Amino acid sequence: MTNKTVCGYVAIVGRPNVGKSTLLNGLLGQKLSITAPKPQTTRYRLLGVKTNENNQIIYVDTPGLHQNKRNALNRHLNRTAVASIEDVDVVLWLVEALQWREEDDYVKLVLERCQRPVILGVNKIDKIKNKAELLPYLQEIALKRPLTDVFPLSAYHGDNLPELEAKIVNLLPESVFLFPRDQITDRSSRFFVSEIIREKLIRHLAAELPYRLTVEIEHFSTEKNLIHIGAMIWVEKSSQKAIVIGRHGQQLKVIGESARQDIEILLESKIFLQLWVKVKEKWSRSEHALQQLGIKS
Ligand code: GDP
Ligand code: MG
Repeated sequence: MTNKTVCGYVAIVGRPNVGKSTLLNGLLGQKLSITAPKPQTTRYRLLGVKTNENNQIIYVDTPGLHQNKRNALNRHLNRTAVASIEDVDVVLWLVEALQWREEDDYVKLVLERCQRPVILGVNKIDKIKNKAELLPYLQEIALKRPLTDVFPLSAYHGDNLPELEAKIVNLLPESVFLFPRDQITDRSSRFFVSEIIREKLIRHLAAELPYRLTVEIEHFSTEKNLIHIGAMIWVEKSSQKAIVIGRHGQQLKVIGESARQDIEILLESKIFLQLWVKVKEKWSRSEHALQQLGIKS
């Protein structure tokens, strides 16, 4: 009997919308990171821990690498993504099948400095009818930088995820487990609750607006068999506030209702959810405001 275990960090990097959060959820076998059909959903650096019999993989889900460094929020997102690839054992670089964009070139540029093994995941292969088209695409990327391995994936359907995991495990250093076996994340319930509310805002509001919003949990308490949660939705302008609330409060009601349902599943409890909307001018342009809201540490 040998007790050798391996354990290490894996950064999932890639431009927005390639499916990083979906992949993380698939690899972990549960929904941890929110996903949406719009870019920039992930704002935080998030740890997801997958523990098997003899190995433990600690995934870091990074915000997309953004070329647009116009405001403080984007600058911070970039710093987080760059910092996250420096301290890991393996980098998992995700691109989308046959959808190479300028932003992918930017990720490639950031990875040039990276000394770690880089595994390329080519996601969304379920969308490609003629799989033969993939070959020249893969060859072209392989010419761009040395890769430890390449995996065509469907994060959505789970295709090739076990093979990918086996390869990652192979690259991890021998180490004791850094997290208890039953711990799947370092994030609090409050964090997940605010992310669920943000996901609903993204799903129910049009276009760019949700990215100008942030959610702050104001209170979180258990009374009898009910968890009372109050959350503040910060917007930049009163016109945005009107949109979030909607006619006769209808929009906010729909958002709150669908958030409540998901939070009840997550926390396995009945929830009383209250949402408020307040104007905080130009928050994404001010570093100080980011700090106040806990986005920057
Ligand atoms: P992220 O910004 O890289 O974290 O991307 P997300 O995980 O939020 O996914 C962006 C969009 O792509 C969502 O609508 C996902 O449902 C979709 N998506 C992710 N993986 C797949 C996949 O394997 N196949 C297909 N068809 N869609 C996917
Ligand atoms: Mg994401």
